[in-house]
Amino acid sequence: MDTHLVLPAQATLGEAPLWHAREQRLLWVDIEAGTLHRFDPADGSDRALAISQPIGAVVPRRSGGVMLALEQGFAAFDPDTGALTLLADPEADRPDNRFNDGKCDPAGRFWAGTINRHREPRTAALYCLDTDLTVRRMLGGLTNSNGLCWSLDQQTFYHIDTPTRQVSAFDYRVETGRIRNRRTVVSIPPEMGKPDGMTIDAEGMLWIALFRGGCVGRWNPRDGRLLQTVSVPASQVTACAFGGAELATLYITTARAGLDEAALADQPDAGGLFAARPGVAGVEAFEFAG
Ligand code: ZN
Repeated sequence: MDTHLVLPAQATLGEAPLWHAREQRLLWVDIEAGTLHRFDPADGSDRALAISQPIGAVVPRRSGGVMLALEQGFAAFDPDTGALTLLADPEADRPDNRFNDGKCDPAGRFWAGTINRHREPRTAALYCLDTDLTVRRMLGGLTNSNGLCWSLDQQTFYHIDTPTRQVSAFDYRVETGRIRNRRTVVSIPPEMGKPDGMTIDAEGMLWIALFRGGCVGRWNPRDGRLLQTVSVPASQVTACAFGGAELATLYITTARAGLDEAALADQPDAGGLFAARPGVAGVEAFEFAG
């Protein structure tokens, strides 16, 4: 599988790629740098916008602009004017936590989870910003809330709490957003690295970025079997998203943070944005409907 560098971003912690179909651009973030990026594959350009704090996830907003999951909670952002509006900070009482990965559900609600900077077990949670801008706590007792996506039939929610090395599945109701009946559908072997970001393809299979595993794996959530891997010339693979024409390109973010000099010499493109054509297409991401 040929994976190539499309942007030598040298990101500290590149994350949360998402294809913005209306703009035909890839949104992604550098969490610790606090920058929101818009990559245009048509000309290879990348525009970075500085946000004043760490940023865990970005999603398009149907009514214009984007929504962000920041250190200080959910926010609306207008990339044209730079106007940032903080909307809700459900963990204001937890200064060691920041928001991490997030995505919209089929009803246009924005889900995002948190992470504790010191990896204190079970101090993080998963939240949902509804379209009326109210926030609900969906899951507690997490340590590093990461990849999330919904099944093609919109009946199942998939979620990764990284240290568990598992993908949890839940029954999901699109009308209410309610999740219940948690079970494990994929277990990641320790030698493959830690599961981080996740997306789903047009065949309902899960693509999971493997941090310190140097690859993205494709798993079948129906039987838990590994189907395919796409290797990346950077060990800290953080997240992936399908984009481009026919959603046939798998974009992959990576990180430089935490690599020593020897590792950086060995993988000079760490922190870059990579792309592969795995032979299967993705599905369009949902936008925030509020
Ligand atoms: Zn992540």
